Amino acid sequence: MNTRIEATPASIYLAETHQVENLSNDLADYSMYSQDTALGEAVKREGAAWAQGELSAFGEMTGSADYLELGRLANKFIPELDSHDRFGNRIDLVSFHPAYHQLMKTAIEHGLHSSPWTEPRAGAHVARAARNYLHTQVEAGHGCPITMTFAAMPTLRLQPDLLGVWAPMVTARVYDPRNVPIEQKQGITIGMAMTEKQGGSDVRSNSTRAYPVGIGGPGQAYELVGHKYFVSAPMCDAFLVLAQTSAGLSCFLLPRWRPDGTKNAMQVLRLKKKMGNASNASSETELRGALAWMVGEEGRGVRNIIEMVSMTRFDCMIGSSAGMRMAISQALHHCSVRSAFGKVLNQQPLMQNVLADLALESEAALTLSMRMARALDQRSDEQEDLLVRLVTAVGKYWICKRTPNHAYEAMECIGGSGVMEDSMMPRLYREAPVNTIWEGSGNVQCLDVLRAISKTPAVIDAFFAEVALSKGGNPALDQLVTGLVKDLKEVRDVEYRARDLVDRMALALQASLLIRHAPALVSDAFCQSRLQQTGHHNYGTLPRGVDCAAILARATPNKTHA
Ligand SMILES: Cc1cc2nc3c(=O)[nH]c(=O)nc-3n(C[C@H](O)[C@H](O)[C@H](O)COP(=O)(O)OP(=O)(O)OC[C@H]3O[C@@H](n4cnc5c(N)ncnc54)[C@H](O)[C@@H]3O)c2cc1C
Repeated sequence: MNTRIEATPASIYLAETHQVENLSNDLADYSMYSQDTALGEAVKREGAAWAQGELSAFGEMTGSADYLELGRLANKFIPELDSHDRFGNRIDLVSFHPAYHQLMKTAIEHGLHSSPWTEPRAGAHVARAARNYLHTQVEAGHGCPITMTFAAMPTLRLQPDLLGVWAPMVTARVYDPRNVPIEQKQGITIGMAMTEKQGGSDVRSNSTRAYPVGIGGPGQAYELVGHKYFVSAPMCDAFLVLAQTSAGLSCFLLPRWRPDGTKNAMQVLRLKKKMGNASNASSETELRGALAWMVGEEGRGVRNIIEMVSMTRFDCMIGSSAGMRMAISQALHHCSVRSAFGKVLNQQPLMQNVLADLALESEAALTLSMRMARALDQRSDEQEDLLVRLVTAVGKYWICKRTPNHAYEAMECIGGSGVMEDSMMPRLYREAPVNTIWEGSGNVQCLDVLRAISKTPAVIDAFFAEVALSKGGNPALDQLVTGLVKDLKEVRDVEYRARDLVDRMALALQASLLIRHAPALVSDAFCQSRLQQTGHHNYGTLPRGVDCAAILARATPNKTHA
């Protein structure tokens, strides 16, 4: 019997169910820096015009398909902990995918962890922030140890004897992930261990104790006993740790290896099961008599480590701004390719409204972050230093908090494909809340703003002086400022009202910066939608008359492909 079934022309025809058409493609092989108009303007304006050539080359790399793929791989193949080796020896070893190591290597070789400290010059923080903004768009998780290493320097400076030994390795542009003592390394990374189970934000309730090995005091050796509930990047070479002495909470530098070449008694119990930030290992650890040296004055641990925390908060602003930029870039790219109901999506009026609104949010976040980068560059100026003290809390609160909903709305612009794990959107969405929670959650930031104002009233004068630079530029802003001045003077229920006050401070500063620096079509739309409208809680509610097409043209990356 002949069992072969001959394919008929009809069945061949019927097997072709559809052509793949009207679908988007990857946003890749684009110039992440050169095609970001707002970023280029901010870099020039805030004092780093000299870095543009390097940023342009860096942005070519970060926007390339191969490089973007590293971000995907580093999050797909997540870190794994081996607490012991197969012979039973305690090793506390976390392994990462090679893509993670490549991201770390690039970050360190480009000085994301150190350039303003090793090459201080006008615009050094601005240039580094711009590089960080680009690199974080590829992948956010590796930024945790990079930021902590960068941020450790201001705290290490409080202990010059330790600084002399550690600074050259902390700032070196050498990534050495080997699990060996620092004496065998040229370049190292630094982590941070503050949070404990019972305390969290309230670090004063920490129970980890530090016992002096000898005379005790700043720069001296102690042994630490206790637990830490969150220690990210546990493969860092050393950690800044808070622990109690008889004089109170103090700051310590704790290496992973002891100077005699033996393993320090810091044990990684397990890795956290996080909803996002997958490439970055975060752990629970126990300190079982771990050797550490006191950094700065005894009993002033919070004040000493806050030098580091202030820098990590600034990086949260940059990181969340970068998350927004990548989200809106993905949405803009998709909507420049996909059509529905007879028009390319970015020409549908309602989609234009949504996209333009998301683009405004992203540009406002970037503008505020880069202004603060300049303030960091100019801290010898008292006014700028006061701004750093106040606005890192304001900006960290506001920008990070605006990001999760922004990521979700950008995902919705892409539709069902945006929900799929093989798009970048789920990663951006799951990453977004992390910055709002660590380094001081929303309420903690708002309370910190109040604390800064009550301890150093000059910070609020500096803030209003900065906002006043755009006085007369937009009546809604002037009105907002008048109300804010009045409401900040009112002390009754001030904690209860703190979020409302800080929201308005952030909006006032963003509006003022955009009025001064962005095209009028951007600043007018921002002020109309954020300062004049009330009761609108969703993106896509820009009022009539906004030139959405021009805002989209300004924000769209990969214009050559669009
Ligand atoms: C992914 C990840 C990695 C982390 N890595 C590290 C790390 O490397 N090192 C480290 O030390 N920590 C790390 N943390 C811990 C992080 O900094 C803390 O989670 C954060 O500080 C909040 O502390 P908590 O979780 O104990 O929450 P809690 O302190 O219990 O706060 C819970 C909520 O209460 C609010 N709250 C607190 N006090 C007040 C108040 N007075 N009034 C009103 N509201 C208040 C907070 O804003 C928050 O919303 C990490 C956290 C995450 C999520």
